[in-house]
Amino acid sequence: MADKRDYYEVLGLQRTASEEEIKKAYRQLARQYHPDVTKEDPKVAEEKFKEISEAYEVLIDAEKKKLYDQYGHAGVSQQFKDGNFNWNDFSHADDVRDIFGNGGFGGDLFDMLFGGGRSRGPRQGAHLRYDVEIDLEDAAKGLDKEIKVPLTTKCDKCGGTGSKSKKSSRCTQCGGRGQVQRVERRGTMQSINIVTCPKCHGAGNDIKDPCPECDGRGSVRRPKTIKITIPKGVDTGMAFRVPGAGEPSPNAGPPGDLLVYVHVREHDVFKREGPNLFVEVPISFAEAALGTSLEVPTLAGKASLTIPAGTQTDTVFKLKGQGLDVVEGRGKGDEYVQVKIKVPKKLSTEQKELLRKFSELDEGSKKGLFGKLRG
Ligand SMILES: [Zn+2]
Ligand SMILES: [Zn+2]
Repeated sequence: MADKRDYYEVLGLQRTASEEEIKKAYRQLARQYHPDVTKEDPKVAEEKFKEISEAYEVLIDAEKKKLYDQYGHAGVSQQFKDGNFNWNDFSHADDVRDIFGNGGFGGDLFDMLFGGGRSRGPRQGAHLRYDVEIDLEDAAKGLDKEIKVPLTTKCDKCGGTGSKSKKSSRCTQCGGRGQVQRVERRGTMQSINIVTCPKCHGAGNDIKDPCPECDGRGSVRRPKTIKITIPKGVDTGMAFRVPGAGEPSPNAGPPGDLLVYVHVREHDVFKREGPNLFVEVPISFAEAALGTSLEVPTLAGKASLTIPAGTQTDTVFKLKGQGLDVVEGRGKGDEYVQVKIKVPKKLSTEQKELLRKFSELDEGSKKGLFGKLRG
């Protein structure tokens, strides 16, 4: 406790300061040490910001102020959850929220400032999406494939500076931060919004002779060859992740991931539903009536299928295990063969003669039908 600074000193106040003066002092300092606008080292600024917030938390609260005035730091340490001030103990974020741009921060102000998305630590590169189209045969077998992904890489010509002479200076408008404050006044209300610097568009540097290779961006997009393995049994709409194959980090963090989305082309012969395949096979009336042995296409080649005598059109036969693998699961799909009886459009004289004879012998089946109607 001994090394802790006096709260009044932290806020630059006299012990007699009014509530109004305490508020004013805190708002002024909060603006100065806000990590997004401060000119200080971010780490130092964060410490400072926490220190002034702790002092404010105590002095703006009549109960806590009374304890502090009487007993010093020892008097208020019990007020904080683990004896020391943490951001969780800060209950006056609303008192300064407006000065950081109302509505600009969706969540808790201090979470946004010191954690999560706005952290100044190394950031992961962006994830990239890549769409790949493959044939059904490849989806069945699985496939190793080389793809070319356009990645942002440092421009070799200017060494990433964006400047032809490799000289760039800090942007004069934002001092290299890439962001500026925009102050809006409405009556006595003042709000400060943090916006992307209009001069350097967020890059933070000022380039007088832009590199012709990269148009002054310092980076170019170059295709990089990446080997991917497409697993057996993939279907349209499935995606898989290649960790670390995405965009490089802008500041020494880990690269993003590559997300590969698969599209399986329609097949001329097979229809597919999940791991199962469907195929239609034409047979003649005679084959259906007498029974036969057929060769039917499968993804592996051919399989033989016995058609029993008296098979009707649209009958479905199942070839077990002739479908696709179940991705990341057990087992295989099946192939369903549906027979379609085809009626010939052209007949030779001999065929016609034989069919007429057949028809005469087949009169009995029609009589049966009419017999049922009369009944
Ligand atoms: Zn700038
Ligand atoms: Zn360049």
